[in-house]
Amino acid sequence: MKVTEYIDNAKNSLFSFEILPPLRGHDIQDIFSTLDPLMEFHPPFIDVTYHREEFIYVEKENGLLQRKKISRRPGTVGICSAIMNKYGVDAVPHLICGGFNKQMTENALIDLNFLGIDNVLILRGDPLNSEKSFFAKEDGHRYAVELVKQVKNLNQGKYLDKTFIKQKNYPLFNFCVGVAGYPEKHLEAPNMESDLFFLKKKVDAGADYIVTQMFFDNKKYFSFVKKCRSEGISVPIIPGIKPISSKHQLNSLPARFYLSIPNELVKEVEKAKDKKTVFHIGIEWAIHQSKELKNSGVKVIHYYTMDKPENIYQVVQAIY
Ligand code: FAD
Repeated sequence: MKVTEYIDNAKNSLFSFEILPPLRGHDIQDIFSTLDPLMEFHPPFIDVTYHREEFIYVEKENGLLQRKKISRRPGTVGICSAIMNKYGVDAVPHLICGGFNKQMTENALIDLNFLGIDNVLILRGDPLNSEKSFFAKEDGHRYAVELVKQVKNLNQGKYLDKTFIKQKNYPLFNFCVGVAGYPEKHLEAPNMESDLFFLKKKVDAGADYIVTQMFFDNKKYFSFVKKCRSEGISVPIIPGIKPISSKHQLNSLPARFYLSIPNELVKEVEKAKDKKTVFHIGIEWAIHQSKELKNSGVKVIHYYTMDKPENIYQVVQAIY
């Protein structure tokens, strides 16, 4: 079922979760261990992130460095299939521009369609660690909006190579498309207005819903929704929540995601004497955020699990 159908039919807030494929060398059981306890909350869908290949340098016997391509977290599509098989819950794979050309993307979409996947979250992806800014693969997409257009074209039976046409009596591709939105603007955007302008382009290209970057101050979300609405963006905007779980995150999350953490939360975390207390503060803060979002009538609250279900379980249990 489509994410937008879940939203349309929801009488109360629903709770969805995002997981990461385990590191190479780990097992699908890691995913099940994350999801098993969370199934109690009947998530309408589970998002599975996509991680592109990275380059590392390995020292050879002669002392020279060799550049090597590695993929640390493969398996997004397989995990989606495993989730649907085991839990009977819709899985939403993330599909990115980085590292893909258009043909690879079309092939990936065909795989997803054959697996019975109805939804995709479309993203540009971040620049490689070795690059200062994002570079598209040759014949790939530079911005998420272009990838949204490719999916929407395929939904209309338009393959890249026009000699392939949808065969009679076969249903069309019918992906429901989500895109990312940033309540505190995307880190590369010169200002919020510009970021909203390009967010609207993604919606005009056919995006059916938006999932937000994490935020720790609900005012940022409410103000973002208001701005989107006044720009004519009318699709559902799903808030993304992540409980703080370590002191280190007070600096690492703002640096990585260009977001701010309210001073009240920062002070509480800094005062904490041990990790357990920080963990507890993060849970209480996320419960407070979630309650307010739920009471405001938000249809789906999306949780970034980072493959650690303990705190997410406690947050959702408190508001379920
Ligand atoms: P875009 O929408 O393409 O925007 C990127 C930047 O370019 C923005 O600053 C925008 O304002 C600007 N822009 C857009 N269009 C234009 C244009 N035509 N001309 C000029 N500027 C333009 N990353 C992963 O690698 N894998 C994942 O699974 C993943 N999941 C995510 C899930 C969520 C909910 C979120 C919020 C982010 C996720 N990311 C993921 C991170 C995401 O890939 C990065 O934030 C990336 O830097 C931007 O992606 P985007 O889709 O928002 O890009």
